[in-house]
Amino acid sequence: MPTSFSAGDLRRMLSRLRDVMAGVGAVQGRLDKVVALIAQDLRADVCSCYVMRAGEVLELFATFGLSQKAVHLTRLRVGEGLVGEIAAHARPVALADAWSHPQFVYRPETGEDFFRSLMGVPMIQAGRVIGVLVVQTREERPFNEWEVETLETVAMVIAELMAATQVVKREELFQQEGNATLHVRLAGAPLHPGVGVGVAVMHKPHVRIGRLVGDDPVTEQHRLHTALNTLRQEVDALIDGSRGDAEGYGDILEVYRMFADDRGWISRISDVISTGLTAEAAVQKAHDDTRVRMMNINDPIIRERMQDLDDLANRLMSILAGGGMRAELPDNAILVCRSIGPTELLDYDRKKLKGLVMEEGSPTMHAAVVAKALDIPVLAQVQGALTRIDSLDLLVLDANAGQVILRPSEELIDLYMTAIEARVKQKAAYASLKNLPATTKDGVTVSLNINAGFLLDMHGLAETNADGIGLYRTEMPFLAMPTLPDVNAQYALYKQVVDGAKGKPVTFRTLDVGGDKIAASSVSGPEDNPAMGWRSIRLTLDRPALLKQQLRAMIKATENETLRVMFPMIASVGEFDAAHRIFKLELDRHARDGGRVPKIVKVGTMLEVPSLMWQMQALVTRVDFISIGTNDLMQFMFAADRGNTRLANRYDALSPAVLNMIRFVVLQCRDAGVEVSVCGEMAGKPLDALALMAVGCRNLSMSASGIGPVRSTIRSAALSEIEPFILGLLSSDESSIRERLRAFARDRGIAVP
Ligand code: PEP
Ligand code: MG
Repeated sequence: MPTSFSAGDLRRMLSRLRDVMAGVGAVQGRLDKVVALIAQDLRADVCSCYVMRAGEVLELFATFGLSQKAVHLTRLRVGEGLVGEIAAHARPVALADAWSHPQFVYRPETGEDFFRSLMGVPMIQAGRVIGVLVVQTREERPFNEWEVETLETVAMVIAELMAATQVVKREELFQQEGNATLHVRLAGAPLHPGVGVGVAVMHKPHVRIGRLVGDDPVTEQHRLHTALNTLRQEVDALIDGSRGDAEGYGDILEVYRMFADDRGWISRISDVISTGLTAEAAVQKAHDDTRVRMMNINDPIIRERMQDLDDLANRLMSILAGGGMRAELPDNAILVCRSIGPTELLDYDRKKLKGLVMEEGSPTMHAAVVAKALDIPVLAQVQGALTRIDSLDLLVLDANAGQVILRPSEELIDLYMTAIEARVKQKAAYASLKNLPATTKDGVTVSLNINAGFLLDMHGLAETNADGIGLYRTEMPFLAMPTLPDVNAQYALYKQVVDGAKGKPVTFRTLDVGGDKIAASSVSGPEDNPAMGWRSIRLTLDRPALLKQQLRAMIKATENETLRVMFPMIASVGEFDAAHRIFKLELDRHARDGGRVPKIVKVGTMLEVPSLMWQMQALVTRVDFISIGTNDLMQFMFAADRGNTRLANRYDALSPAVLNMIRFVVLQCRDAGVEVSVCGEMAGKPLDALALMAVGCRNLSMSASGIGPVRSTIRSAALSEIEPFILGLLSSDESSIRERLRAFARDRGIAVP
């Protein structure tokens, strides 16, 4: 390819390609002309187009320069040869000497002997590789980045045109496998539990781009900016809608709104427009480029932000292409997609959505958070969801068991429908208890509180009638942001939390960044062991401005009210003292500046690092309360990564080790008159909650979904029976007492789900 090939040349080539593809005659004839045209314009000796056929095979579909005898004859499996390699990784390859590459395979029928250099790019349509476009030259020569990009643009244009002309029918690529009457189970990772039965609706984030090649870049730039304005208005409308909504997704959407203003993103699209594409094609091209770059990045947070960008890009393309990408839902719809953005999900009719199945997705993605708030079962990382599920397929989504079942039998559907009805009844039963105290049959009352992190979690407080918010994870809404929002933005958020709690106590926890939760790495660079690294209070004590701003915002949000604040990951009394000092300085400063201080101030600590247990005597003289975070505490006690699924069932919270430790802390606190609670996941499990009561806990904080079951279990138990049973097992050599406790509870008619 001539290196003097300019943006103007590319524009001219794209418009000729468009004319050829839009012309009359058989598709094959048009493709033959296309490859000849590309070879001629790029001054290459060969241009070949390989198309994906059934069974993941790439077939030589058209060529200029290779032997015509090889057309429809030469076939390469995905992963085989350089062409297969390009398709397998959806990545371009550019080699001055292809023959010396270990992946090169020689196909004599193509007459390839004469061509040394090779540049190939994937043809991607709707996020799927549908073929590979290759150019070759006789002489050995390197290719530069601009050349690769040019070929990518051309490949994109051809891919779109091929999809529009249905060169290969979708049915061919995705035939039903095996016995079509047998059900098939696809496994995945549950992001929100529940069961749904319904018909598959394929979420179509991909907008069919009608016009790819622009006639006038200035007009296209103008169209882009008009569409960006509409995009901002749409997101603003969603934000406004969410404000009035009890479920409040505002904080997520605000973060998301920032992407719509991202200058880097907008200027990348503008650059592509100047190469001759229409605004919508430029959005697609710029987005595909970012996607390919991001595919090589392992940071889960960055990959998640990619989903937000997908969402925005699709929305923008839809606006440019005239809108109308949202499918009408049948009454029972299970949405199937690669991934989905929060606003895309909110565009669907929530009442008709019975579930969400994704090929990708992760627990902290924004759409999962929204789905959780809507109480829609979600299954993520379902391999093959897009290829094996077809529109209108009947599906059973069992997120509890981590599976989606295709073509379920009638018996299976009946079984699941019964389970769904039972769940609805169960929820109604829990709801009917919500105004009754969590008091055992022998009169011992436990305070039940919820853990929250987003404004949308707040509706759980009213829904469950919990006593308060035992843990407000302040880091959650800010996960996506490169830097923390300023004091005013934080104040506005905390104020909404305090107001939303309507006088019930809220315990704010200062930032717990790093570890499994954000990129402290954005500040510190990658760490070998982030859970035990520079995270949480360690980070905020070293960067006190972060802590000060946050405390300032909390103090302001609780003027004349009660402020409960606690610090995470405290490992030594000295760390607590240092954080406490900063808090007192901020309190003084607030008063000095004429602000009204909170009426009541309680300062506490999380207990989630084992070292703190051997400093209890000193600690209890300093703190107003202690909240035991069993998630991290167990991770450090057992030296078992809390996020590692292989270890998930290896150590049980219902073990003498954990219960002895909690009992020790509870007794120390009781003697010193210090409030103590448990806010790790175990607090929300009914059996575990019984055991926690037996070792002395009277305050539990959990996900809102745990309140109903825990309340019901506690109300059906007598502590005078449970307590001696558990205390008797504390010296047992068993690593789990769970089954023993379950049997004991069942024998006594205690309601354990
Ligand atoms: C814990 O560690 O138990 C806890 C409640 O905090 P987080 O889950 O936010 O780390
Ligand atoms: Mg923790």
